[in-house]
Amino acid sequence: MSGRTQPVDLAATAVPLGVDWIHGSPSAKHNTDPDIQVHAYDEHTFVLRQNMAVDYEAPFLYLLFGADRALLLDTGATESAAFFPLRRVVDELIAARLHADPVAAQRGCPLLVLHTHAHGDHVAGDAQFADRPDTTVVGADLPTAWAYFGFDEDADRIAEVDLGGRVVDCLATPGHHAAAVTFYDRSTGLLFTGDTVYPGRLYVEDWAAFRRTVDRLLAFAATHPVAHVLGCHIEMTREPGVDYPVRTSYQPQEPALEMTVGQLHDLRRAIEEVGDRPGRHAFADFVICKQDAD
Ligand SMILES: [Zn+2]
Repeated sequence: MSGRTQPVDLAATAVPLGVDWIHGSPSAKHNTDPDIQVHAYDEHTFVLRQNMAVDYEAPFLYLLFGADRALLLDTGATESAAFFPLRRVVDELIAARLHADPVAAQRGCPLLVLHTHAHGDHVAGDAQFADRPDTTVVGADLPTAWAYFGFDEDADRIAEVDLGGRVVDCLATPGHHAAAVTFYDRSTGLLFTGDTVYPGRLYVEDWAAFRRTVDRLLAFAATHPVAHVLGCHIEMTREPGVDYPVRTSYQPQEPALEMTVGQLHDLRRAIEEVGDRPGRHAFADFVICKQDAD
């Protein structure tokens, strides 16, 4: 956990994740992928993907370790531990960490569970952690999450979650969902945008809020080095402007999960271009699905 005072230029030094993500199979029944794929971004940072045959949403989840505790962002699309053994996988990652670090082993590793937003495919696994010792699950619903982050008092504040030598900034970013939160890990420069920004269909339930959110993310990115923008799904193909149909459970031509601040700027321009028109608007790297009509 060293070297996390003012990173030099994380964006300039960021390398592609370079992961072959599990992406479903022609026959979901005959899928041989793991229930959950685990990618170590670095030794303190893990990206998890849910098996697409278990749930077509195949969301990404994130597990970050600090010196004092671990933070899990989201709990996936499936409640059943038999089909989606998230708690077991998280337990194994925590156990491996404690095994490798005698000091941490003595102290233990409490787990904090937060969410990018309250849609079902991001909170379904919460119950697996309900009786887990040394664990705090903060509800994703608006009243609970907003009170936890202090957004009920001041929606413009940046809440800080300290994992021990690793601070995660939390911003209220409504638009896709009223209780959407974006997380920024200062140590890696990773910006976790949930379903607000990802290479897929950006469903917008509140257009004005979404526009403000993207403005805010751009302002934030102008003053904080962003290595990667990491959302929670992939729905695009590698062909610009073409997404996989909803409920697809086989996506052999997925683009990378990670996006750039440049693509955030693209999104801002796309929002201007969409203007007042409701409905579906395809752009090269994402599709805006404007659900309201204001
Ligand atoms: Zn969502």
